[in-house]
Amino acid sequence: MARIVMKFGGTSVANLDRIRRVAALVARQHAQGNEVAVVVSAMSGETNRLVGFVDDISDDSRLGGAIDDEYDAIVASGEQVTSGLLSIALRRQGVNARSWQGWQIPLQTDGTHASARIKDIETLAFNQSLKDGIVGVVAGFQGISPLGRVSTLGRGGSDTSAVALAVALKADRCDIYTDVDGVYTTDPRIVPEARRLNRIAFEEMLELASQGAKVLQTRSVELAMNNNLPIRVLTSFRGVDEPNPGTLVCSEETIMEERVVSGVAFSRDEAQISLLRLSDVPGVVARVCGVMADANISVDMIVQGTSRREDSANLVFTIGRRDLEKTLSALEENKGKIGFDGLLFNDKVSKVSVVGIGMRSHAGVAHTMFSALAERNINIEVIATSEIKISVLIDSDMTELAVRALNGAFDLGAK
Ligand code: ASP
Ligand code: MG
Repeated sequence: MARIVMKFGGTSVANLDRIRRVAALVARQHAQGNEVAVVVSAMSGETNRLVGFVDDISDDSRLGGAIDDEYDAIVASGEQVTSGLLSIALRRQGVNARSWQGWQIPLQTDGTHASARIKDIETLAFNQSLKDGIVGVVAGFQGISPLGRVSTLGRGGSDTSAVALAVALKADRCDIYTDVDGVYTTDPRIVPEARRLNRIAFEEMLELASQGAKVLQTRSVELAMNNNLPIRVLTSFRGVDEPNPGTLVCSEETIMEERVVSGVAFSRDEAQISLLRLSDVPGVVARVCGVMADANISVDMIVQGTSRREDSANLVFTIGRRDLEKTLSALEENKGKIGFDGLLFNDKVSKVSVVGIGMRSHAGVAHTMFSALAERNINIEVIATSEIKISVLIDSDMTELAVRALNGAFDLGAK
């Protein structure tokens, strides 16, 4: 007997028919004598629909803090519905099941509405219920704040609910069911020859997730890594008896395959900012970053270089494209304080990254990457590296070409 957490994303519970199929997958695990906890997302499209209501009625989606607590109360309802529906579907298939809302467990979070962090999960009642053979169907994405209000964990947060629950329950497995059959070397919609990976290290998955691969919420991978809890990513679109190996996200030590690069990620949601002729004295970059931090905007790639004029420097950095307007006005407002001459921006850029733990011990990855891009005549605007990742910023029209070229260069499927 094992204790299993199964998580189903929005497409897996998109309609009643799909919910019945999910129930069959759950029933199978239960029939094998396992204790099963299930975490569900809202039906696909539902969270967006609810967010749309909030935006419309508050008339200004940038209102932020003042309405965040009600935002949570509204958007968390999608998961409440699916947890109830799946429980009924399970009962109809002869499985004893009940739904659990975040506050009923309770799953306690901090008070940061719309992107709350989990503080604690009380498992006493939930544990007992599992031991009694009852499948617990948990509404993902939601918890309860210190003030007793409904809170939500940020978009994609059901993944994090599932991993956190698996950790708290000391589960043997956490299986995340989605609409793809595993983690691929890159997005198969762009590179049809992309390969499913059998295993991927936590750190690689973390980089891929934060670089734009959308399979798992970044925070869920962080949590799994910190607790050394392997996650299996697999599809719910296969019959109960069909093979479904998926991808195991696990510690580095459990990966035997020798490979240097595991995946290529990309993000089209980038914008590049250039500040020209900043004075070249200590503290200037700190001032720029201070202005950005005060405006609550995260800065990603940062490059400083000398400008043609003596005693001055240029600073280039990237931000999320959705923050462009906010960034431009924050910088203009603080022009005097920062001290720069010119401000340029480019919102037609993409970030493409190659990721692999093998980079630590293999030389030449940068050379292979830059040569592959050069052969396609792709110009690089900015480069950033970490121990296991190299990212470049390029013209967004070149994204697909670059992703294909890199998959080819690192032997990840494409020619
Ligand atoms: N329903 C939420 C969302 O769409 C949470 C999730 O599905 O993970 O972001
Ligand atoms: Mg998701």
